[in-house]
Amino acid sequence: MKQKSARIISTVLTMFAVLTVILSDKLLKVISAFERKSEAKCVFRAHTGLLCPACGNTRCVSSLLNGDLFAAISYNAFTVALLLFCMGLYAELLANSFGRTAAVIPRSYRFLTVVLTLSAAYFILRNIFPFLTAA
Ligand SMILES: [Zn+2]
Repeated sequence: MKQKSARIISTVLTMFAVLTVILSDKLLKVISAFERKSEAKCVFRAHTGLLCPACGNTRCVSSLLNGDLFAAISYNAFTVALLLFCMGLYAELLANSFGRTAAVIPRSYRFLTVVLTLSAAYFILRNIFPFLTAA
């Protein structure tokens, strides 16, 4: 990615992150209102009784905005892992915007295989062992 593009994208992402922190109280109110609505219920779970990969996302994000990492992991660990992955990509982008290279996220088939296997295992196991999730 060209340095100028990386600089623009990283600036926009930084502004978005700062706005998220500044507006976290208002975001929490919106999320709470969304959770109370009946539309917030998972259709997949309602029909099958099983957790879909997105079950617990809203409560996970709500917990993260409240600073409760352990609760966030208990609702959906995949969302927390995805956020960490995005933070790694952001760090690489930020380094690129200053003309540096940083390899935070491995680019290999082995890493991709491990991540996809762990993700699939988590989605299956959280439906078999209820103690793995609070969702
Ligand atoms: Zn669901």
